Amino acid sequence: MTYSISIEQSKQLKTKPADETLGFGKYYTDHMFILDYTAEQGWHSPRIIPYQPISLDPAAKIFHYGQSVFEGLKAYRAEDGRLLLFRPDRNFKRLNISNARLSIPALDEQFALEALIKLLEVDQDWIPHSEGTSLYIRPFVIATESALGVAPSLEYKFMIILSPVGSYYAEGIHPVKIYVEPGYVRAVTGGVGNAKTAGNYAAGLKAQEEATEKGYSQVLWLDGVHKKFIEEVGSMNVFFKINGTVITPVLNGSILEGITRSSILELLEHMNIPVEQRQLSMEEVYQAYQDGTLEEAFGTGTAAVISPIGELNWRDEKIIIQEGRTGELAATLYHTLTSIQHGRIEGPAGWVVEIPQLKKA
Ligand SMILES: *Cc1c(COP(=O)(O)O)cnc(C)c1O
Repeated sequence: MTYSISIEQSKQLKTKPADETLGFGKYYTDHMFILDYTAEQGWHSPRIIPYQPISLDPAAKIFHYGQSVFEGLKAYRAEDGRLLLFRPDRNFKRLNISNARLSIPALDEQFALEALIKLLEVDQDWIPHSEGTSLYIRPFVIATESALGVAPSLEYKFMIILSPVGSYYAEGIHPVKIYVEPGYVRAVTGGVGNAKTAGNYAAGLKAQEEATEKGYSQVLWLDGVHKKFIEEVGSMNVFFKINGTVITPVLNGSILEGITRSSILELLEHMNIPVEQRQLSMEEVYQAYQDGTLEEAFGTGTAAVISPIGELNWRDEKIIIQEGRTGELAATLYHTLTSIQHGRIEGPAGWVVEIPQLKKA
């Protein structure tokens, strides 16, 4: 593979949206990164080009057999002007885990990170300034070979696109209401639940839609075999604080290993709070609720960082947590992690990576 990335500058730069209007995933920056794969050449032709549609054959395998994986991370603008990434090496490592599961050839993780940093240098003015805003980064791989036989594609594209996003909690961190899904399941052990692959999200939409109709913002997924053990919340990992101990479902092959999850686990250890990664049933959570020992529940993920859970609907029983308010631990973890991500406090070594800034002419 050639390691030199060609750059074609956009001749017509877009007008940047105002920070207050950003929302999530509505706007894209001026450039994108592409890397091609063919069986003969391997990964090749890395390039940064103006953001634009791509052209694919209707028989391209992505449309038929769904070989598609992605990542999600953010670039932050610190108060002192530094541009920061949070544990980006973890995202590219996970992308390769997803690649391996979907029979997609591995990427050079170090090179993928270099490519991202180069793209961020080019589009650095797109990292928004306001409190709570960031530049969302979406690296992804799709199968592009045109062939209708069911077999791993012989051609792929790895791309990175960037989208400035608003503050997730415009009115401050607030708890969400969650519907415990009794019928649909997200994943099973042995399936693709531990890969960040497109089909998992398509498969989850129906349950999400039905939960929304009932007035809930996300679903809590139970295990696909017994529909008994807790797995995840929407596209977040989930934590419960019961009688002073924090419990999160153990990684069992059907749960996505969140980078926020790993970081929260490390922070809890630093805080000397007892943590358990193990199987946790809804019965146990309900029992704790009845005993008065269910202290907090929250989801974790890149988008919201921490999402406190104020209510769980399980079998039409409403489990109200912290009287529907944000718990103390969720608030502390949110504050600590966002402070590390925005460079206000120092986190463990290697968590924050600085993006070099281009000198302005
Ligand atoms: C991306 C994702 C998460 C959270 O992962 P982070 O690395 O913390 O953003 C959790 N569950 C699912 C299903 C996901 O897709």
